[in-house]
Amino acid sequence: MGTVKPETLRRNEWPPEDWRGRFYLADLHVHSRYSRATSRDMHLPALARTAREKGLQLVGTGDFTHPDYFRELCELLEPAPEEGLYVYREDPEGPRFILSAEVSNIFSQGHRRNRRIHTLILAPSLEVVREINLALSRLGDLSADGRPTFGFPVKKLVRLLREISPEILFIPAHAWTPWYSVFGAFSGFDSVEECFEEETEHIHALETGLSSDPEMNWRVSALDRYTLVSNSDAHSPSKLGREANAFWYPMSYPALSQALRTGNLAFTVEFYPEEGKYHFDGHRSCGIYLSPSETRRHGGVCPVCGGRLTVGVMHRVEELADRPEGFRPPGKPLSVHLVPLEEIIAEALGVGSQSKRVKKTYRQLIELGGSEFSLLLEKDLSELAEFVPERILEGIRRVREGRVYVRPGYDGVYGVVSIFTPEEGPSGDQGPRQQSLF
Ligand SMILES: [Zn+2]
Ligand SMILES: [Zn+2]
Repeated sequence: MGTVKPETLRRNEWPPEDWRGRFYLADLHVHSRYSRATSRDMHLPALARTAREKGLQLVGTGDFTHPDYFRELCELLEPAPEEGLYVYREDPEGPRFILSAEVSNIFSQGHRRNRRIHTLILAPSLEVVREINLALSRLGDLSADGRPTFGFPVKKLVRLLREISPEILFIPAHAWTPWYSVFGAFSGFDSVEECFEEETEHIHALETGLSSDPEMNWRVSALDRYTLVSNSDAHSPSKLGREANAFWYPMSYPALSQALRTGNLAFTVEFYPEEGKYHFDGHRSCGIYLSPSETRRHGGVCPVCGGRLTVGVMHRVEELADRPEGFRPPGKPLSVHLVPLEEIIAEALGVGSQSKRVKKTYRQLIELGGSEFSLLLEKDLSELAEFVPERILEGIRRVREGRVYVRPGYDGVYGVVSIFTPEEGPSGDQGPRQQSLF
């Protein structure tokens, strides 16, 4: 409420139609119910089922370091036809699984004492995971949390695990979040090299996280050599695939590893980073939000009350950026922004996204359309028009075209993405088409 500026229109990139069928969608970073603050429903059968509904062909297991969860993985997974990947035993034709885990390192390095870095780890087989877990269990408590914490530098984690298998992959997780990331304002570093030192050459990819998108990262030329990936970091099934990666077929662990090394992937699926609570700078009690350059122009103080502004993630990116906004380095994958289908439905119907009507409509549309990504990303609008109510269809069209308004989050206030403008009126009337179908 009381913001100083109107919402702004955000443009979007979109994959060409002839790419259809050539890429698969992968979400590499999720958590199991053994992680803190994670839904009890996060277990392998639910991951398999939800990945199918979302339209993900590959999903991380999450949390392979946890002894109980690892036991479940050994029981419930069997090798997929694709090298280095697995399937849920009860759904052998279903989504593929890649063994994944997240580790937290809290340590001193350089001039700062309290470094806190999260790293996503991918492994090529259950046998390798067994060795990883054995090695890590000597250095910390793996059963305390699905995301275990260690007190040694993250570069040591890389060295230790690389000695177990050179095929293990390391991806600094949600690279810009203030408290637990490689570039975090409060606990991170100014460069990958400063953090990983002699192990830097083994870091090929960075996870941009929900609060940043590739466009923001492209402004830092030092990051050009890294493949930017996007994952959901889901703590509950419905969040699966809210960010994802489109890799080119064929699918296999070695091919994925190669794609992360070369950056040759089709696109990433992005959340609008403006939705994050600390995207822009601002002052909550005054309802003021500013871009980093506006903050500088105001000398870091709130233009209303004169108090200090809370600095956001965008500002941190700008501190390290050496390129102007809008710069696009050549040869980078497309950056495709999506709005979750439940949110599109909610806005189209003019009801809350957690409402029964939204859930019911979502289920029906998934049943008719195959999966969420097939509706949002793949099917022609003319095909969708056969079963998607008009206003929802219009929502999907606008999301695809990037005709979406964003109001950035700031100082703990969530940002807002809206598809329809207030002038377009409330949406109580869905027209005869929807009434006949539902
Ligand atoms: Zn994390
Ligand atoms: Zn103020």
